[in-house]
Amino acid sequence: MSARRRELAVALVATGDELVEGRHVDTNSAEIARELLAVGFEPRRFTVLGDDEDGLVHALLELAAGHGAIVITGGLGPTLDDVTRHAVARAAGVALARDEGVLAGLRERFARRGRPFAEANTRQALFPAGAEVLPNANGTAAGFAIPVAGALVVALPGPPREMRPMLAELVVPRLVARVADLPCVERRAFHLFGLPESAFADAAGAWMERGANPLVGVTASGGRLSVTLRAEAATRAAARELADARAAEVRARFASWIFSEDEPDLAAVLGRELIARGVSVTLAESCTGGLAAERLTRVPGISAVFGTGFVTYADEAKTRLLGVEPALLAAHGAVSAPVAAAMARGAARHCGARLAVAITGIAGPGGGSPEKPVGLVHFGVSVDGVVSTEERRFLDLGRDLVRDFAASTAFDLLRKALCGLAPAR
Ligand code: AMP
Ligand code: MG
Repeated sequence: MSARRRELAVALVATGDELVEGRHVDTNSAEIARELLAVGFEPRRFTVLGDDEDGLVHALLELAAGHGAIVITGGLGPTLDDVTRHAVARAAGVALARDEGVLAGLRERFARRGRPFAEANTRQALFPAGAEVLPNANGTAAGFAIPVAGALVVALPGPPREMRPMLAELVVPRLVARVADLPCVERRAFHLFGLPESAFADAAGAWMERGANPLVGVTASGGRLSVTLRAEAATRAAARELADARAAEVRARFASWIFSEDEPDLAAVLGRELIARGVSVTLAESCTGGLAAERLTRVPGISAVFGTGFVTYADEAKTRLLGVEPALLAAHGAVSAPVAAAMARGAARHCGARLAVAITGIAGPGGGSPEKPVGLVHFGVSVDGVVSTEERRFLDLGRDLVRDFAASTAFDLLRKALCGLAPAR
């Protein structure tokens, strides 16, 4: 590994029995990684350990060999199970020394609150000899920083509300100052719906090679792909130019799937666009049972364009509330294109909405057949009274996911319909 790569590499360590016992999730490392990534560092490794002094010493020495900085959270409390200060001192090959200024501050803090000063608290005034103390304005556990085998080890308290301001105000500036010339990094993001990850990878080709600059990354969840670009250069302007050029290519290649470049929530994107354009909408839901309405009504201000949604689960409800002909239901079944179309038409007519989407499908686990398997969903879309249908065969990944995909697909169909719609009348 080049000295340069090591200089920029950071490792995050989280310590606490509650973390390795699965009672609490390490969110600190993710947060710190994002902050450091944003200023040009390369977070490379997360390590989660219990309150285990030997394990911590071992991990620190191993990580110090390949990383310029190591940020540890947790284990700075006053009790015997808080071992971070001891472990770091051992790894650095120094003794613990009491900081009289910190001790006086602790005594004063307790006195101010009229609380007795427990002897155990003196532990929080111990720091590896030679460490720089990082004051904690929101708690009793001060942090510290000290070099270990050429890496700067920074220890911060575990509670996120204490860790966060110390990271921003004390740690990031110190880490940035240590590195001569951090590369300038520009990021772009795209959110796509309906494209499988593997199809994206094929279409993106060499853009996704590990050494590429910009580097393209992709994560999939709930039918959505989030694509990130990370461009790096010596100057801000050069990085921006690289990022913008690739971003333009991504837009051109994936135009029909990109629904947003900032907001990752499809319902939010659709809702805001409906509100901005003043286009009224309604939903006729069968297999999603109101899930789409729930997601759409999370959008603040949506009442301007959404007044009524229908949950028509039974055939009888489809007939009574949406006017779907019993004969149509009998001939095609509730999960069919003609019924989806009739549902959308009926819903739009009943509330005079310009846009309507209907969702009828088989969410499982039961109810599937060879012709109509679990995962089959029909959609009806009504745009100013003109109705079309779409069919999707989602993988049977369980009832919850089929319903989730169905609701998201309905939003995607509405979003596309909205794109093609003439300006508000
Ligand atoms: P400690 O500094 O080890 O005494 O941690 C005190 C509290 O901070 C824990 O009980 C958790 O609630 C929280 N905490 C500790 N480590 C983490 C972490 N890695 N991510 C999120 N919260 C944490
Ligand atoms: Mg702890």
